[in-house]
Amino acid sequence: MTGKVKLDSYRDAGILVSIDLVNELVVEEAGEAASRDAVAALKRILAVDANSVAALRPGHVRGFGELARELHRVFAALDRDDLDAAALRVNRLLSRHPAHPYLAKEAGRWRLHHHPADAPLLSMWSAICAEGLASMISADRASRLGICERVECGRAYVDLTRNASRRFCSLNCQNRVKVAAFRERASLGTRRERSGSI
Ligand SMILES: [Zn+2]
Repeated sequence: MTGKVKLDSYRDAGILVSIDLVNELVVEEAGEAASRDAVAALKRILAVDANSVAALRPGHVRGFGELARELHRVFAALDRDDLDAAALRVNRLLSRHPAHPYLAKEAGRWRLHHHPADAPLLSMWSAICAEGLASMISADRASRLGICERVECGRAYVDLTRNASRRFCSLNCQNRVKVAAFRERASLGTRRERSGSI
């Protein structure tokens, strides 16, 4: 699907939080010391919802880590265009963590929330994340979710460009791969010159 995709930090929190969970708790974790403050990382990730940040406890870290690993598997499946495998995993999360729509009165108006404010944190975010990824799959936008092509990086991303052409998590990774490819070509050219071939 073409056309620029705009995500809203609240409405699309499931997609954005899924990406942050994968990158902060799976990809970064793999490269960092175990002393990393996972609670602080989770507070940053869930900052869109002040109630979640307030409810977060060290005891939640393990469960969010498991959720992040499962979401990483979904991104890996999407990255290799295996929509069936991704959908299977998303469906499993959805059935284990059903949404719990709820009307809450705010400043005199009733507003629809995904869950009641006192819903269990991990289950609530599992549902929100799974629903966010499910919405991308069902809107033919699954190809916009991917894993950075710079092998040493591996971060998840959502492609918001008009022509859905993104392959890297950031310009930084794109430039690093471009520079490496340029150097590779340049050194190949030098070797060919030395050996007398074209
Ligand atoms: Zn990257």
